[in-house]
Amino acid sequence: MKSKLTTCTFLKVKSLIILLCYSITCFSQKTLAQKPLFVVKNINIITMTSSNTILENATVVISKNFIESINGVIPKNATIIDGKGKWLIPGLIDMHVHIPTDGGPFGPKIPTQGATFFMDIQNYMTLYNANGVTTIFDLGSRAEHFGQRNEIGKGHVIGPRMALAAMIDGGEGQGRRANTAEDGRQAVRFAKAEGYEFIKIYSDLNIETFNAIIDEANIQGLKTIGHIPDSFQGKLKDAFVPHFGMVAHAEELTKHAIKFDKTEAKEMAEMLKKNETWFCPTLITIEWILKQVKSLDDTKALPTLKYVHPLTQSKWLTANKYNQWSDSATIAKFENYVKFNNYLVQACKQIGVPIVAGTDAGTSSVVPGFTMHDELELYVAAGLTPQEALASATRLPANWLGIESIVGSIEKGKLADLVLLDANPLDNINNTRKIAGVFINGVWIDKKKIDSTLAELAKWNNANKDKFDWKTMMKKK
Ligand SMILES: [Zn+2]
Repeated sequence: MKSKLTTCTFLKVKSLIILLCYSITCFSQKTLAQKPLFVVKNINIITMTSSNTILENATVVISKNFIESINGVIPKNATIIDGKGKWLIPGLIDMHVHIPTDGGPFGPKIPTQGATFFMDIQNYMTLYNANGVTTIFDLGSRAEHFGQRNEIGKGHVIGPRMALAAMIDGGEGQGRRANTAEDGRQAVRFAKAEGYEFIKIYSDLNIETFNAIIDEANIQGLKTIGHIPDSFQGKLKDAFVPHFGMVAHAEELTKHAIKFDKTEAKEMAEMLKKNETWFCPTLITIEWILKQVKSLDDTKALPTLKYVHPLTQSKWLTANKYNQWSDSATIAKFENYVKFNNYLVQACKQIGVPIVAGTDAGTSSVVPGFTMHDELELYVAAGLTPQEALASATRLPANWLGIESIVGSIEKGKLADLVLLDANPLDNINNTRKIAGVFINGVWIDKKKIDSTLAELAKWNNANKDKFDWKTMMKKK
C-alpha cells in the first residue's frame, strides 16, 4: 500500500472530481473585443527574455490582449496605471496542476442526467488570477477541461490559459489504460484525435508500453511528461528513452534512490541531461505530503484553506489519504525524500537540466495559485537564484509548451499576461507574493479587486460548508 503513497495518488482514488482545456493556438488567435487601452507608466520591467534585460522607468501600452508597445507612443483615452517603484514580470506558468470539473458519481445515473455535482469554475480560476498565474498545464485532462478552456476563451470565465495532457496508465487503474505496446500506441492516437496536446505517462505502465507510448507520441507530434513507472525499479536509466520530455515530480527520481546522497542526485540529473528530459520538481507537494503524514494541523491552519471549495476542504480534512500512514517509518521516508529532492534541484541546476515550476495544485493541501509562490521560494532555498526561479515559471515553461512566441517574457507583440509587483523579486523571490495587480490576457485585475473577490469567495465557501460534506456525498453514490 505504501508504495502507492505518491504525489498523484488522489487521481487513482475514486474520483468524483473529474479532471480537463482548449487549444493554445486558439487562444493566440483570439482577439478579445472591448478590452480597454492601458498604459503602465514609470514601471521597472523584468523582461525575462533570454538576456533578461531590465527596463527601468519604462512605459508599457496594452491594447486589447496584447502588449502594443514598450517605451512607444502613449495613446489618448488610455487608462493610466502608475507603476512608480513597482516591478512588472511575465504572468507565471504552473506546469503541473489538476483542475476539478463537474462530476457524475453522486446519486443514481439515468440517461440524459449528466453531472450531479457542479463546480463554479470561476471560483477555482480566481485563485490563479489572484496569484498572477496566467498559464496552467493540466496533467490529467478530460473532455470537460476543453469546455472550461472555451469558457475562458469566450470571456465568460476569467482564468489562465490551459494546456492539456491526456493521461495514460497501465495495470487496472482508472482512465486510459494500456498494457501492451500496441494499446499504448492506440491510446496516444486516440488522445491526439480527441484534441489533447500532450501525453501524461503514469506509474503502472509496463516498460514495453511506456516505451511505445513515448515513441508514438513523438511520431504524432505530442510531447510527453510524467511519472517514471514502478516497472523501472532497479533500472532507472532504461526509462530515459528518446523523447521522454519531462519528469513531472522530483520524487519520480527520488523513489529510485538508494544512497540518497548528492552523488546519486548528480547521476540522476545526468540521465535527464543526456536524454534532454526537462525537470518539474513540484517540491511543495512532497513538503505537504510529509506534513500531512505527520498530522493535519498545518492543513487546518492554512490561511488560504478558506479559498478552497468546501467539498475539497472536507476531503482534505476528513478523508486525507496521506494522514492514514502516520508511522515513523513513513515519516522518515518522506523526510529523506524532501532532502533528496533538494539535491536533485541543485544537481540539475549545476549541469544545466532545464527546471520548470509546477505545484501539483489540486492534491491535498496544495492550494492552487498561492502555492506557486511557495514553490518558487523552495527553488531559491534549494540553490536557484531568484532569476532562475522566475525563469522556471515564465520563459522556460513557455518554451517547453511551444508558446514562447506569445507568452513567457515581456516583449512588444506578446499577449498581455503580466504581474505588477510592489517590490523587486530579483532581490527576494518572496516579492512575487506582493501583487499590486494582474493582467490576464489583457484583463486588468487590481489589488482591490483581487482582495474583494477572494473575500467573497471565502464567504461563499464558508456559507456552503454544510452542503459539501465529503463522506455524506460519497455515501449518496
Ligand atoms: Zn499531478
